[in-house]
Amino acid sequence: MAAKIIDGKKIAELTRADIAARAAQLEAQSGVKPGLAVIIVGDNPASQVYVRNKKKACEQAGMYSVVIEMPGDTTQEALMKQIEALKTDDKIHGILVQLPLPAHLDEDAVIAAIPPEKDVDAFHPVNTGKIMIGDYDFLPCTPAGVMKLLEHEGIEIAGKECVVVGRSNIVGKPQAMLLLHANGTVTVCHSRTKNLADVTRRADILVVAIGKANFITGDMIKPGAVVIDVGMNRLENKKLCGDVDFASCSEVAGAITPVPGGVGPMTITMLLENTLTAAKKAIGKNL
Ligand code: NDP
Repeated sequence: MAAKIIDGKKIAELTRADIAARAAQLEAQSGVKPGLAVIIVGDNPASQVYVRNKKKACEQAGMYSVVIEMPGDTTQEALMKQIEALKTDDKIHGILVQLPLPAHLDEDAVIAAIPPEKDVDAFHPVNTGKIMIGDYDFLPCTPAGVMKLLEHEGIEIAGKECVVVGRSNIVGKPQAMLLLHANGTVTVCHSRTKNLADVTRRADILVVAIGKANFITGDMIKPGAVVIDVGMNRLENKKLCGDVDFASCSEVAGAITPVPGGVGPMTITMLLENTLTAAKKAIGKNL
């Protein structure tokens, strides 16, 4: 039987409408418009698209947004100065530095320079630590978007076998932690995992974030499993595809996210949620 397709685009639209309503309420009550600053260094075309989309999404949600474009040969010092200026800018509640940065810049130092209360990507070690102990203000956008999809679809996590393939700091690790906080029984796989298919076939909920096109095939999943594909891979024909082979997996899974139109639209949505949270915390409102 063909799997139910989880419509991330639709769920993102509904969530963004709700965020926009809450942002408008905040502004009406306090006069404060949630504000996001995005810094982009260099001219990576993919990053430029992501940044444009973030600005557009902010504006559509009634939020203030500014993009700071810096040349590819920007020095560490100049970038740090820019972050420093945004730290004290009252109109800006969230600061995001678009990654990856050019190789001569120290990404870890840049992330650490963003004040945790404006760190809407939730990459700062303080926010990472808070996620670990389950007492957080912000969640990293992609794993948070996955949790929102599961919640919207009414998918029970407690007691389920959850397998996360990929252990990056921005997706795999926090994803595993969020599933654990939701009482899933969580296994994390990576490039050194032996007999990967034996592990993925155990999953009631399988989240894949490895960056390898069509890597997970139908024979690697349990019949009826929920399959969440975080991957975004550009094929030679310029088409976007996930880490999951949709054709074979959708024949076996119970529910599955497509690429595009699955996790992708949720990532920016959760950035808006974090920006709203940052603004509320800045003015002490708990709406
Ligand atoms: P990274 O490259 O940082 O991490 C990839 C992870 O996959 C690593 O942990 C790696 O293992 C693991 N891995 C690689 N090959 C295999 C394999 N053959 N078997 C098992 N595990 C493997 O990637 P990201 O987490 O940043 O991104 C993953 C994917 O998600 C990419 O396609 C990216 O474009 C996409 N993405 C999508 C987003 C969205 O909004 N939809 C947002 C962020 C990312 P090891 O640690 O051992 O090297």
